[in-house]
Amino acid sequence: MQPMTLKHNITTRRFIEEHHDWCSVCNTPFLDHHTTHLGYTNKGKLIYTSDCCANEIVTTIIRHAYQKRAYKKPTEETVLWRFMDFTKFVSLLKDKSLFFTRADRFEDPFEGAKGLLKNKPKWDSFYKNHMIEAIRTVPGGSNLNKSDKELLSEALKLVDSLNQIGKRQVQETFINCWYENSHESEAMWKLYTSTLEQGIAIKTTYKRLYKALNRDPSIHIGHVNYIDYESRFTGVNESFWYKRKSFEHEREVRAIVSDHFAKESFGRLVPVSLNYLIEKVYVSPTSAEWFKDLVQDVMAKYELNKKLYVSSLKAQPFH
Ligand SMILES: [Zn+2]
Repeated sequence: MQPMTLKHNITTRRFIEEHHDWCSVCNTPFLDHHTTHLGYTNKGKLIYTSDCCANEIVTTIIRHAYQKRAYKKPTEETVLWRFMDFTKFVSLLKDKSLFFTRADRFEDPFEGAKGLLKNKPKWDSFYKNHMIEAIRTVPGGSNLNKSDKELLSEALKLVDSLNQIGKRQVQETFINCWYENSHESEAMWKLYTSTLEQGIAIKTTYKRLYKALNRDPSIHIGHVNYIDYESRFTGVNESFWYKRKSFEHEREVRAIVSDHFAKESFGRLVPVSLNYLIEKVYVSPTSAEWFKDLVQDVMAKYELNKKLYVSSLKAQPFH
């Protein structure tokens, strides 16, 4: 039996994260605008449910208006890779942490962007109309008698605050990127190592990554969507899950953590259980035997008990 607590703490937040889209009692999927309830049954069992089984809750911890995730969660066995230089590998082992880069420190100026600057007036206008409607139709009808001028003025203030939040978010969002593919990629070896002969790749799965990060419910792991910003923009809380089509080759799965109180200028180290995270370590297809020995030594020094492989791209052909 779970220890009963009325506080919404890491255990209860994790429970919501892991039963995000369906009732934990009867597995009925939640629909948009369902109210979800987290609480305890009379036997002290923690459940997360909607109207289907809400009558089983005797003590409520929190209620939400259900919203779909802003991103697609990978399947448990989705294979993920990270390609890196030897120095990055050593600091990974030494720090026993993954480095989450602050969003505005990436080369891509579109990190967290909602769209193309030339389309900003359209974005503003779209959300202005959306806000006017939201204010006018607030439940209970308390805004029913507001004049058009009042509605417009309130809507413009809200749009302005969305714009301010958007600018702040790139300094409060930290991202750790992975390449999703069941196989190694020659292009990724070249893209993410400055000296290919001394490149290293680590292989994991979504499940390993999530668990190695201690199933932290404040870290979200999902697929990046690649879109054409000429024809659309992104919504308010989803911009970090979108990139331009020209990045499609990255097949990125990213872990994101947001922190309104963040002080870091470049990024943050998030502790990770390496022996759980890493399934296999590979040295690059062009690496020398001495390099493989060196990597093996470093792994032993930091007690990473994994077998070291040579990239399968090194295989010998016959003609
Ligand atoms: Zn149910």
